[in-house]
Amino acid sequence: MRELAAGFRPYEWAESTDALALRAGLDPVEIVRFDGNVPPLPLPSSRPGAIASALADVNTYPHGGYPHIHEAIAAYAGVEPENVVLGAGGDDLILLCARSFAGPGDVVSVPPDPTYPLFRVAAQLAGAMIGDDGAVLTFCCRPGNPLGDLPPLPAARPLVVDEAYFEYAAETAVPLLADGVIVIRTFSKAFGLAGARIGYLLAERGTAAELRARQAPAPVSTLSVALALAALRTPPDVAAVVEERERLAAGLRALGFEPLPSHANFVFVPTSDTQEIAARLLARGCVVRVTRGGIRITVRDREDDDLLLAVLAGEDRAPTRSVRHARATAETAVRVRLGLDGAGRVRVETGAGLYDHLFEQLAFHGSLDLIVDGSGDLETGAHHTAEDTAIALGEAIDRALGDRRGIARYGSAVVPMDDALARAAVDLGGRRGAQIDLAEDPAREPRALGAHDAARQRDRPRSASRGRGGVQGRRACSARRRAPRRQRAAVDEGHAVNVAICAYGAGNIRSVQLAFERLGASTAIAVDPDIVLEADLAVLPGVGSAGSAMAGLRLCGLDAALRARAVAGRPILGICLGLQLALDESEEDGGVAGLGLAPGRAVRLRDGRRVPRIGWARLEGAPLHGGGETFWFAHSYAAETPAATATSEGLTAVVEHGSFVGVQFHPEKSGAAGGRFLERCLSRA
Ligand code: PMP
Repeated sequence: MRELAAGFRPYEWAESTDALALRAGLDPVEIVRFDGNVPPLPLPSSRPGAIASALADVNTYPHGGYPHIHEAIAAYAGVEPENVVLGAGGDDLILLCARSFAGPGDVVSVPPDPTYPLFRVAAQLAGAMIGDDGAVLTFCCRPGNPLGDLPPLPAARPLVVDEAYFEYAAETAVPLLADGVIVIRTFSKAFGLAGARIGYLLAERGTAAELRARQAPAPVSTLSVALALAALRTPPDVAAVVEERERLAAGLRALGFEPLPSHANFVFVPTSDTQEIAARLLARGCVVRVTRGGIRITVRDREDDDLLLAVLAGEDRAPTRSVRHARATAETAVRVRLGLDGAGRVRVETGAGLYDHLFEQLAFHGSLDLIVDGSGDLETGAHHTAEDTAIALGEAIDRALGDRRGIARYGSAVVPMDDALARAAVDLGGRRGAQIDLAEDPAREPRALGAHDAARQRDRPRSASRGRGGVQGRRACSARRRAPRRQRAAVDEGHAVNVAICAYGAGNIRSVQLAFERLGASTAIAVDPDIVLEADLAVLPGVGSAGSAMAGLRLCGLDAALRARAVAGRPILGICLGLQLALDESEEDGGVAGLGLAPGRAVRLRDGRRVPRIGWARLEGAPLHGGGETFWFAHSYAAETPAATATSEGLTAVVEHGSFVGVQFHPEKSGAAGGRFLERCLSRA
């Protein structure tokens, strides 16, 4: 083998992502590479469909070369197809130029350090020496790597101008092809095809032909050509990258760094602390390129760049429950960055229109941080893209939740809006058994509590005799299972009472329903005004705020149904917020008009009372409604009304007006006393 120059050092690759992750003690997916000078994502055109026909012919050679891409490149660069030479990346073409122009004993001129190391490597592989005097070939890098500068064009000829970052600078030496200048460009940078290894060179026709003659017969893969052709159909717009570069540079300056002006997709930050800074960044997954005298930082996107700036600023708190996740199928590629404990920083860009908006709403209202970048076969419709985005998001949530230790088991929401009513229930538990802590019932009768009750009662003293929750959990379940049987019995005996529970967005519907079913009533969760009109007893439960609850009632037409029942003198029971909604108005949410089933208004608890008022309290008055007994209260507003027939600790607790009875307490959570109260309601109905 021919010997290489003394001191020759081959091109050194940066470490692999896996190796970096191992070093940082992170998951490889947490590694964010700011060291490759490539865009964070492929172009939307880089999808499996782009290579489908090339793949169908992958068993054949590219007989006759690659005429289509020569034409497409010529059109893009403003030259003729004969001026184009294809190569496996700019690197391949740098090596081609060096070995074509220089040999042992020749001198090749390369840019002063720091510069792209491959010029030196290529010249030395050709057997040439590095120098300026009598150079047979001169390399120039514009924009320069790693500095991002635009150095003056040398007068020497032949001259190879490496324009790997041409798109970001829009400066070119192409007009000088006839003057002994060769321009090298690549699809690795702005076109996002670094992995495909494809680039091109532009030279005067004779030079181009001579260079082609010195290449391998088929120097690039047909698959790469197909990807490059697809990308050339809609060349990238780098304006956003240039803007983000300036934002990143400003952020760096704000931290006291002095990044050099850049004409590329990276910035160079001169510093003597290169190793210390790189190590600090790596600990949080950010990988930068360390060179002599500074670090080079590739511009990614706002969220990634902000992460880097935050680490540089010393904000070392690692985000909890956050993941990066990618999903690629034949039709789509979706990348998700998710933080469960976020602040609603949201951007979803898959091009799937309304679906993007829906994902954004989901994340925003869930206070997640969610960035989704995706591309799919939108030409067939949004279905693949939306579906894969949903799957990718689900997978990301699954990973971010980890072992689900210490999180709430489920959540549900009903969101009434002007023109829609949305309901959602999410179970995040995945547990095999439940542990439910029961609080002592003041009526000293066993009763079952749901998880919701348990959470509310956390501060109450626990009964030692009740033991651990597992047993109680079973009791809660069996109580539920018994209910349908009792209900059937009641129906058989002809005593079933038809109870319609208004479902308009209130949270405690299910516990109210269970409480009535336990008493043998037949119940319906009603969104339909007719059901509310026809029932023997209409129940207006309530947890939440007056504004959204009234909007929900109006949306379903339940407000009119309840007023009609009141006019007809048919029984209505309002519970908690349901009582407040029945009044003329509420102070909540800046003032909300109520249903007017009873006179008065709901006002915020005042006079130094603790808000919300939660706990068991005695009812004073209203002997027919449990006066003297103890009930469970949880509220922040109370009724001021002439129709009050009972109080509790000085606050209105029962309101009676015509066929309407409203209670501020929660009978469905008030154990035996609550059960007796509901039983009386049923018998009245
Ligand atoms: N020239 C310069 C200045 C570069 O920075 C690079 C990539 N780092 C290349 C050429 C080679 O790019 P590729 O071989 O991927 O086209």
